[in-house]
Amino acid sequence: MTTHRLINRRMAIAEMGKAGLAVVVFGTAACSDEGAGATTTAPGTSPTTTATPGTNATAAGSTTTLASTTTTGPAATTGGAPTSFQRVNLQFVSAYILYRGGEAALVDTGVGGSAAAIQAALGEAGLDWDAIGHVILTHKHPDHVGSVDEVMTQASGATLYAGAADIPEIGSATAPQAVGDDDSVFDLEIIDSPGHTPGHISVLDAATGILVTGDALNGTGGGVGPPDPGFSEDMTVAMESVLKLGGFDYEVALFGHGEPLLEGASAAVAALAAG
Ligand SMILES: [Zn+2]
Repeated sequence: MTTHRLINRRMAIAEMGKAGLAVVVFGTAACSDEGAGATTTAPGTSPTTTATPGTNATAAGSTTTLASTTTTGPAATTGGAPTSFQRVNLQFVSAYILYRGGEAALVDTGVGGSAAAIQAALGEAGLDWDAIGHVILTHKHPDHVGSVDEVMTQASGATLYAGAADIPEIGSATAPQAVGDDDSVFDLEIIDSPGHTPGHISVLDAATGILVTGDALNGTGGGVGPPDPGFSEDMTVAMESVLKLGGFDYEVALFGHGEPLLEGASAAVAALAAG
């Protein structure tokens, strides 16, 4: 494994050596709990950061200079194509795009009005909406599903997925396909992780060691924390899900809220559950 470098919040591209993944962070971090952080703003936010596996990238924001570089380690291959992911930082919540070659899956859609930022992210990767074959909603909360109709209109060829227990309250024009434990989407494992909401799911790319947690876990500025009790429906169940998520093997955790954890993530989650 090669060195992981998270430069800092303002220099927002991090490089991840494991399996050659390029970590692309849009803008800077605005970490807050959902529902409580609408007034939090990120200094120096830039939506124009890009990286492609095997390249160096530089970004300059429209309002703030955001100079960053990224490099990648040895290319991972899944079906012969490098894998990478992009964080679309939507100020207090993030969506993630997971790429394999020219195809992509979008995990969560942000608040309403986020489609343009997601499209910009795709554009930075040299792609457009037609690359999105799968849209996975981790749970029903509006900061995660708010742009689902915009996204599904644009990504007209995509299939929509969510956990069964949350689907009745998502209210999307497109009916999600129910997924849970033992289901796989785009070679991504779906993991039931209820508690924050009854139908919460997380998304594991086992081949590259990435877990997209939704709100089953929160980033804590370099660490991992439990879901927010103020916004979670059943904390007992939620902590059982933390224990469950700590039992998988992954290096990187990508949170709905908070900075990604780029090293030792599953061990940190297991320690959180044990504590
Ligand atoms: Zn939530």
